[in-house]
Amino acid sequence: MRFDVISIFPELIEGYFQAGILARGRERGLLALQVWNPRDFSLLPHRRVDDRPFGGGPGMLMQAPPLVAAIAAAREQNPGAPVAYLSPQGRPLRQADCERFSKRSGMILLAGRYEGVDERIMAAVDEEWSLGDYVLAGGELAALVLMEATARLLPGVLGHAASAQEDSFAAENLLDCPHYTRPESWQGAVVPAVLLSGDHARIARWRRGQALLRTRARRPDLWAQRVLTAEDVRCLQEAESEDEFGRV
Ligand code: SAM
Repeated sequence: MRFDVISIFPELIEGYFQAGILARGRERGLLALQVWNPRDFSLLPHRRVDDRPFGGGPGMLMQAPPLVAAIAAAREQNPGAPVAYLSPQGRPLRQADCERFSKRSGMILLAGRYEGVDERIMAAVDEEWSLGDYVLAGGELAALVLMEATARLLPGVLGHAASAQEDSFAAENLLDCPHYTRPESWQGAVVPAVLLSGDHARIARWRRGQALLRTRARRPDLWAQRVLTAEDVRCLQEAESEDEFGRV
């Protein structure tokens, strides 16, 4: 998958790609990245890309010409890739969206700065995505979040392909169950006995029950949409009848 990112801070994007799964995906040839700096497309002195808003008001706006020229250059290298503007006014980004993105061959991501962008660039934008109902200083973090959440779903990027399938929001919109590792007992807290039992069917039921309990307790919005299967009801009843260490 190829990502083209348009940003006046290329070093923020390239720096994050130096480690972790994004670096690994790139090394393995599963991911490609090119960052385009709108300043390189500015025709103004000092590579300027911003100006004051018409009608007055605080702050500066990114100008349309260098942004649209950067988008056109990226489109030439990444034909067919949709152009996504990261914006607090976009659709809230969900795991299911990242799953769809992971089937694409590429995306072009536009990171705004200052008070945002001249509205006329929207003719060159196909979709708008938001990280959530808060305002960042720039779209770079949002672009990185979208790329990391998408890249970890590409086959071969994660060390264990199955781990992404068991994460929160994967497939079923459930939160993940609690996990434990060594030591078995630590500061008086012990690992649930069921996880040490070697009984894989029981462990699977315990994990599902815990995932259901957590989703019900923490995410009533997801819970309200859930249609429980007979197996869900059984796992939930078992989980409700046990203490947090899996004891009945
Ligand atoms: N005036 C804009 C508004 O209220 O909609 C906010 C501009 S913000 C200070 C600057 C840039 O940060 C935006 O152009 C966008 O690219 C990015 N940004 C800020 N919050 C974001 C969010 N929640 N999700 C995605 N991008 C965001």
